[in-house]
Amino acid sequence: MKNIDNYDFKNKKVIVRVDFNVPLNDNFEITDDTRMRAALPTIQKIREGGGSVILMSHLGRPKNGPEDKFSLKHLIDHLSDQLGTKVLFADNCIGESAKELSSKLNAGDVLLLENLRFYKEETKGDKAFASKLAELADVYVNDAFGTAHRAHASTAIIAEFFPVEKLFGYIMANEIANIDKVVKEGKKPKTAILGGAKVSGKIEIINHLLDKVDNLIIGGGMMFTFIKALGGNVGDSLVEVDLIDTAKAAMAKAKELNVNFYIPKDAIIADKFDNEANTKMSPAGEIPDGWMGLDIGEETISEYKGIIANSSTILWNGPMGVFEMSSFEKGTSEVAHALANATANGTFTLIGGGDSVAAINKYNLKDKVSYVSTGGGAMLEYIEGKALPGIVAIRGE
Ligand code: AMP
Repeated sequence: MKNIDNYDFKNKKVIVRVDFNVPLNDNFEITDDTRMRAALPTIQKIREGGGSVILMSHLGRPKNGPEDKFSLKHLIDHLSDQLGTKVLFADNCIGESAKELSSKLNAGDVLLLENLRFYKEETKGDKAFASKLAELADVYVNDAFGTAHRAHASTAIIAEFFPVEKLFGYIMANEIANIDKVVKEGKKPKTAILGGAKVSGKIEIINHLLDKVDNLIIGGGMMFTFIKALGGNVGDSLVEVDLIDTAKAAMAKAKELNVNFYIPKDAIIADKFDNEANTKMSPAGEIPDGWMGLDIGEETISEYKGIIANSSTILWNGPMGVFEMSSFEKGTSEVAHALANATANGTFTLIGGGDSVAAINKYNLKDKVSYVSTGGGAMLEYIEGKALPGIVAIRGE
C-alpha cells in the first residue's frame, strides 16, 4: 500500500485534512498548539518531496455560516512560523478564490483553506461539497485521527474522488499502528485497565476486549456496578442499576473465555463528594450507607501493580478514582507510575481517552509510556472494533 514515506509527491498538489481545532484566547492567539505541531511532519514531508500542500480543517463549532471568531485566518502567522514559509490563505474553502490560489501553487507552497464547517455540507458528508474540495488537488491525505470516526465530507467522502491517490498522514498511520499493537497484535500477557465514571461508556470496549486480553482490570466509578452485581453493598457510590445485568454478563463471558477479570477488593470511601470529606478504607463490597467509594484502596493498588509489572502489553483507559481531587488520586497516580515502570522494563503501554491522558500529563509521565493516543472518541470506537469512516475511506476496511 502506498504510504507517506514511499509516495512520490513531486509536482503534486496534495490536499491534507488536518485537525487544527486549536484553542484560541480572546485575542485570537493560540493557547495550545499541540494539534498543529503534531501535523507538521506530514506537511513538511510533502513539501520536501516536491509537492504543494492545501490544508483543510475545522475550528470550533460555527452554527450558521462564517463567523470571524472561528476563522482559520487566526492561525496563519503561527503556522507560517512553524513551517518556515509564508502560508497562503483562501477565505473560502471552495469556490473561485480557493481554485485560483491552488492552481498557482508551486512546489513547497502551503495554502490554508477557510474553516470547512462554515458549510453545513461538511458535517453532513455532502458529496457535491466534497467534490469541490477534491477538485483543488491531485492527492488526498487524511491526518486528522480525532475526526476519523465521522463520515464528514473532508474526512471520508472526499476520498471517493481519489480512487488511487489517497494516503494516511503520519498521525493517522501512527495512531492506527499503535492501537493495532494492542488490539490486533501485541505480546502476551495482555492487560486492559479500564476506569472512569460509568460502565455505560465502557461496556462495548469491555466486551470487545474480552477475547483479546488475558487480564481485564476494572477501576473508577464503574467498579461499583460490578460490585453490586456480585451482591456487595456499595453505599452511596455511583451505580448504574440498569447495567447490573450487563455487568454480570461481561463477568460471565470473561469466565468462559478464561480472562482474569479483576474488580477492586477495597476502596477509599468518603462521606461526601468533596476533597475535604472524611475518608476511610473499606472492603469494596461493604460500604455503609452515607458513604461513597471515590478511589481504589491499598490492597487493590498493590494487586494491580503486580499485574501491570507482569504484563507485556497494556492498554489504559479511564482513571481509577476521582483523581482531580488530591484525596482520591492515589490509585490513578500509582497505576500511572506502574505503567511508566513497566514501560522502562520493555512493556508496550498505550494510554488513551481524555481523562487517562490528563492523568498521564498531570504526573509528567507522557514520555515514559509507549504511546499516548490523542484520538479520544475515534480511538475508543476503533478499540470497540467499529469501522471508522476515515480509515475505511483510505484503506477500504
Ligand atoms: P470517563 O469520562 O468515563 O473516563 O470518567 C472520568 C471521570 O470519572 C473523572 O472525572 C473521575 O473523577 C470520575 N471518577 C472516577 N472514579 C470515580 C468514582 N469512584 N466516583 C465518581 N466518579 C469517579
